[in-house]
Amino acid sequence: MTGKDQESAGSVAGSFTDQPLRTPRKAYEVELLHKAIAEGVDPLKSGAVPRWEDEVGVGRIVNRRVFELDRLPSPAEVLTKFPLDHEARNLVIRSRQEIKACLQGEDDRLLVIVGPCSIHDPKAALDYARRLAAMNKELSDRLLIVMRVYFEKPRTTIGWKGLINDPDLDGTHRIQKGLLLARKVLLGILGAGLPAATEFLEPTSPQYISDAVSWGAIGARNTESQVHRQLASGMSMPIGFKNATDGSVDVAVDSCYAAGHRHTFFGIDHEGQAAAVETLGNPDCHLVLRGSKHGPNYDRESVRHALETIRQTMPAGSAATHGLIIDASHGNSGKDEHRQIGVVEELADRIASGEEGITGLMAESFIEGGNQAPAPLDQLVYGQSVTDRCISWPDTRTLLGHLADAVDERRRNQV
Ligand code: PEP
Ligand code: MN
Repeated sequence: MTGKDQESAGSVAGSFTDQPLRTPRKAYEVELLHKAIAEGVDPLKSGAVPRWEDEVGVGRIVNRRVFELDRLPSPAEVLTKFPLDHEARNLVIRSRQEIKACLQGEDDRLLVIVGPCSIHDPKAALDYARRLAAMNKELSDRLLIVMRVYFEKPRTTIGWKGLINDPDLDGTHRIQKGLLLARKVLLGILGAGLPAATEFLEPTSPQYISDAVSWGAIGARNTESQVHRQLASGMSMPIGFKNATDGSVDVAVDSCYAAGHRHTFFGIDHEGQAAAVETLGNPDCHLVLRGSKHGPNYDRESVRHALETIRQTMPAGSAATHGLIIDASHGNSGKDEHRQIGVVEELADRIASGEEGITGLMAESFIEGGNQAPAPLDQLVYGQSVTDRCISWPDTRTLLGHLADAVDERRRNQV
């Protein structure tokens, strides 16, 4: 430590200085802070621990409850470190176009978004992707398969928030590691030949991964959020808005409308610099029916009613008015994977018989069925969900076959 450093580390707590802004903290200061906390010192109360607001001259009136601002690499740094290769870029471009064509009814395949509730183990995610890619080769004339690659989990209260937030599943929250790992997983999945779907939750994280994503979701807990609607308005891929957890489809309709318009809002640019983001509006937003805490909404009448509602708001000819996606999990199955299988089977029958309005289907599936509590990898069953219960791989294979048969049947009936 230099003499100057020692001086600033020992700056008088609580004093108001007119020193120039200096953030982030230097590594030794962060270390000091962690050491003090480990020793049971409350950094809010102790004058012995340097706090950055003392050093930037705002006194102790801001960040009273922020104990660390740990700077992340910029999106540009991360994208340069793990760029998409030529094939991956082409896959993203092609699959986004294909998804859009399905949503518009120009491609008569069924869009199937399938994969684990969350990614927690890169190895198991790639293992699953390879199995799904092999099935995709057999079924791609009838199904447009996109893998669920979900890294950010919105929680009803508290809990593990996903691979980006806590990649080691142990509460250490190494976001920098999580970001890089998430990007590597996406590159691996694209390398296996599959397009990826994800939920966008944090407003700035898409800058790090969205170039590798072909379909995005805004979850049931965020569908009424202006921040997420703004975000969707600038995304480069189609975005599905879930109905709200109380079952409201109206708020998701409002989302599609809002996200279709131009917005200006707070964000970051590729250099990680705070920026006023101006967007063009996303014309490819649509509904995802996921049931609610009051029960399912995948029945014929709910689908008809949801489409009737959105057709009153969205322009004729838009993706949202053509059809919607049904999520067989969550409120539509009470998160029971056996009921989820029943929902997919029923939907396959209805699709085969020519029911209109179902553009696609979402299911939560992994290698092993069911789920387990989140824990560090070495304590977990390989290939089993640590969030919502998932359909096993053998059952997934069967279901995908039935869905492909249903598309065959629908085509036969239409001739
Ligand atoms: C999910 O897709 O895992 C999820 C959290 O969905 P929802 O927002 O519908 O609860
Ligand atoms: Mn889930």
